[in-house]
Amino acid sequence: MSELVSRAVGRFAPSPTGPLHAGSMVAALASWLDARARNGRWLVRIEDTDLPRCDAAHGRMILQQLRACGLESDGEIVWQSARTDLYQGALDQLASAGKAFACACTRQEIAKHWHVTGRQWGRHQEIPYPGTCRTGLHGREARAMRFLTQGTGTIRWVDRRLGSQSQCVEEVVGDVVLKRADGLWAYQLAVVVDDAAQGITHVVRGEDLADNTARQILIQQALGLTTPQYLHTPVVRSANGEKLSKQTGAPAVDVSDPVRALHEAGRHLGLRPDHSQVSDQLSAWVKAWASQWVTSAAD
Ligand code: GLU
Repeated sequence: MSELVSRAVGRFAPSPTGPLHAGSMVAALASWLDARARNGRWLVRIEDTDLPRCDAAHGRMILQQLRACGLESDGEIVWQSARTDLYQGALDQLASAGKAFACACTRQEIAKHWHVTGRQWGRHQEIPYPGTCRTGLHGREARAMRFLTQGTGTIRWVDRRLGSQSQCVEEVVGDVVLKRADGLWAYQLAVVVDDAAQGITHVVRGEDLADNTARQILIQQALGLTTPQYLHTPVVRSANGEKLSKQTGAPAVDVSDPVRALHEAGRHLGLRPDHSQVSDQLSAWVKAWASQWVTSAAD
């Protein structure tokens, strides 16, 4: 293994809003296999910045479910709720570079802005931030902190599974929230700061998160950080075609039979379930993963 390959660091970053379900298990397994396939390290980070929706007990349960399936972090488990100083430091850096600003707008005000201009947004469509507070608060009270996307253009990146991707964040999303109006740290800032702080070289996560990548790349660039490689895994759907999630009531992965749990996750990744012991199955899949997804050190 070359030195470059062995410096790889992957991660699994669940939000503890419930136990691990079949969808998050796929992301956990894929990220573990990817790190192992390049002889790298695999870290687990509990993304509990959204305190009202998260529960430490769920975090502990996720760790226990992972462990039962032979997936154990190679380093200390990071809990984002304990890392607010890091996020504040990054926000201060962005603000002093003129890349973050305070915003007073409510959701309704943002919707109203577009309503007046006659532009319509679908019910589940993201309503882009129109840049109202870029020139200051004009006497209104600061609520959130946003990342300035003005003039950032189209971001292009290559996903290892999905291929070439592009997004003009300024148009589609607008100025990204870094710190929310309720004082909580936004996912976009925390994930960028922690991926960098933990030296993550390869992000492997569910396809439902692919859409966040361009804004994360923008924030990385503004903070002078390296952009990792990205691979987004297929989303797991229920029998009626709905994406599995805690919101749609996805059941917890049953780890009383860890091989079965692994086999189910592996099938979604196109891996053949051909061993009856956790360690044998994982070793076989590391080889299969390496030949399919790690063809060069740059992958
Ligand atoms: N915490 C996010 C989630 O559970 C995943 C973040 C990531 O992998 O970038 O959906």
